[in-house]
Amino acid sequence: MRRTRPGCTAVRAAAPAAGPRPPAPDGSRRPGLDWGGAVRLVRAADEIVLACHVVPDGDALGSMLALAQTLRGLGKRCVASFGEPFTVPHSLRFLPGQELLRAPADVPAAPALMIALDSAGPERLGSLAGVARSAAELIVVDHHATGTGFGTVRLVDPGAAATAVLVDELIRRLGAPLTPSVAEGLYAGLASDTGSFKYPCTTPQVHDLAGRLLAVGVRPEAVSRELWDRAPFGYLQVLAGALTRARLERDAAGGLGLVWTTIGQADREAPGVPYDQLEGVIDQLRRTDEAEVAVVLKEDDAGAWYVSTRSKGRVDVGRACSRLGGGGHRDAAAYTACGEPEELVDQLRAALRPDPDTDPAENAP
Ligand code: MN
Repeated sequence: MRRTRPGCTAVRAAAPAAGPRPPAPDGSRRPGLDWGGAVRLVRAADEIVLACHVVPDGDALGSMLALAQTLRGLGKRCVASFGEPFTVPHSLRFLPGQELLRAPADVPAAPALMIALDSAGPERLGSLAGVARSAAELIVVDHHATGTGFGTVRLVDPGAAATAVLVDELIRRLGAPLTPSVAEGLYAGLASDTGSFKYPCTTPQVHDLAGRLLAVGVRPEAVSRELWDRAPFGYLQVLAGALTRARLERDAAGGLGLVWTTIGQADREAPGVPYDQLEGVIDQLRRTDEAEVAVVLKEDDAGAWYVSTRSKGRVDVGRACSRLGGGGHRDAAAYTACGEPEELVDQLRAALRPDPDTDPAENAP
């Protein structure tokens, strides 16, 4: 059935946080760890504006609220925000420090000092990108390998498992304590970006930091339940429908297998599940032994399809999604598109096809 979607606009750049981060291949991305510069700016500031990327995940919001609470503890006037839609995802509403959140419109337009977190470029700040441009000083705290080099002082390490790792170090260098509520935000960031300590970025240093956070009083079972292990009953109904609709294509993705499904507006309207509660569906689909690549197409309230992709490591879904206007990492990437889901999967299937000249490793099962 064909539907026209006059309201469908696919403009939001996609960059999921999940997955490992290889170092920048060309080395030209201006990483940098100017701890001294960052500490000097923070010490000199009276008022600090913090911002993280749009549609924040556990690392973006957890790191930002941890730092905001620390700065407030140091006596700074401090507000934290993120670009519209200014709605905290359900799974992150347990995070402490949300009293410091302000809507983007209520943030000072030209602050003396701004700190951007978990954002590879100003466009990831959405409607706060203009504030970042107008800030007299901008500290960028990030771990994405695809960063654009923005900011006047950079705390950027593509080798860090999470922005939370860098915020922990900044807090230490500021001489501030890890309070239980600061630690909870950092732990949420660390657990989110390591896939609950499962991804290859889960280094000994990650576990060292996790251990220090637990020692301060973080309860891992409570954070995990909030992040991943709870949902309204309607979510299970949506998940059941998505799994029932799933299709397995063994020949796709260079013969390594593709499994995909869709969640349209109607599929989630009856059970009353909002769009932002569908993130976990792909983690069920990606279990499929017979498929290297898992894909979930989710229709947002405007009728655009957000296409989430995951690979087990042998197929570069980040490159495929880049070809289709999105982005992300080798193992986890996404893009937004308009059209019928079957046509979108046709395009994705073609983008996933390996190039035999350059991808010998992806060519043989
Ligand atoms: Mn992150």
